[in-house]
Amino acid sequence: MRIFKFGGASVKDADGVRNLCEIITQFGGDSLVIVISAMGKTTNALEALVRRAYEGGEWKERYEALATYHSDICNELFAQVPEDVTNWLLQLKAALQTAEGSYEQFYDQIVPYGELLSTSIVYHQLSTQQSCVWLDARKCVKTNSLYTEANVEWELTEHYIARALPALLAQGPVITQGFIGSDASGKSTTLGREGSDFSGAIFAYCLQAESLTVWKDVPGLLNADPKRFPQAELFHELSFQEVTELTYYGAKVIHPKTIRPLAQRNIPLYVRSFVDPTGTGTKISESEKVGVKPCFVFKDKQLLFTLRVRDNSFVDESKLVRVFQALDQANVKINLMHSSALTFTFCMDYSAVKLEKLQSSLTEEFHVLYNEGLHLATIKNYTPESFELLPPLGEVILEQKTRNNFQVLYRPTESDEE
Ligand code: ASP
Ligand code: MG
Repeated sequence: MRIFKFGGASVKDADGVRNLCEIITQFGGDSLVIVISAMGKTTNALEALVRRAYEGGEWKERYEALATYHSDICNELFAQVPEDVTNWLLQLKAALQTAEGSYEQFYDQIVPYGELLSTSIVYHQLSTQQSCVWLDARKCVKTNSLYTEANVEWELTEHYIARALPALLAQGPVITQGFIGSDASGKSTTLGREGSDFSGAIFAYCLQAESLTVWKDVPGLLNADPKRFPQAELFHELSFQEVTELTYYGAKVIHPKTIRPLAQRNIPLYVRSFVDPTGTGTKISESEKVGVKPCFVFKDKQLLFTLRVRDNSFVDESKLVRVFQALDQANVKINLMHSSALTFTFCMDYSAVKLEKLQSSLTEEFHVLYNEGLHLATIKNYTPESFELLPPLGEVILEQKTRNNFQVLYRPTESDEE
């Protein structure tokens, strides 16, 4: 039993859908679960719709554009738009008219339509070639109600997957959605942006799969983003530990939560190219062979937060406890931190919602200052030569160097801004 995961770029148009089905036929084997993301940039489009609808603004035009995008792909693949695709589109439209509850809850009732649409379309295409099954992942992937970043209820999820999947797999490959689940009240939830890799790992873990393969538009896992570093090199093999560290620093190739469930059950992860499916790709496993190449990771949209005590006392451990409690409650992940006598400084991915939460919870005790629009560069396993490969850094704000890793937070010169 194996799991294949396909991201949005692999199904961005009709040719992508055809290519995916060809990969299934060629490499799928007997027993397969196929986890798929929303098509192309659909999730971004849905996020924009959610914002408009929640604020009571005009969203119909954007909705029509999204509906046309999916219908056009269907018209290219089939004689007519399949009924379930039409139904999802109608349900999406109806759901957009009922903005209620918190923003996050509303978001999670809308954004899953991207995955529901893409998997239905792939299901119909694969059905023309072989028997296969469509599964609503929300019936199996159970989460808490932390909308937009829900946590998996592992025991329940394992129970539902073990109960449903064997009978379905007997009928052919099972096609299901990444990124989505449901909570105890039956409401849809999402696992965090780019969460479909993690969904692949959830199915792999619960089914004790032989492997998880993530099909991407790159040849495998590289030591830098090839768009920035044309000289980027492919890793043939890497350890779980090495990849966990790379994703921690912001390498975008795999969702950070993906590795843990795989490592727990010793399930290897393959990263392969859907553009060149015969390529060997990268194998990530328990292996001891650690990649010692320098790796370059860049993160933009960084927010630097500085907390300065109001009463001229030190930022001592008890103050830090309160800061970390506030960070935990706002679900903030720190990318870099530094403390001094009177200040505590940290850098995080920009989020307007989290920024607001932190401001309201910390202003009583601290002066809160922040800087937006910063970039964070990390070189893992640096060598003296690797520094020469960094782009011009503009204004350096904070720099940290350990024996293995180097990180620098900087404000890029205007011409470097994308
Ligand atoms: N469609 C979702 C996103 O774009 C999940 C994923 O692609 O993994 O974030
Ligand atoms: Mg994606």
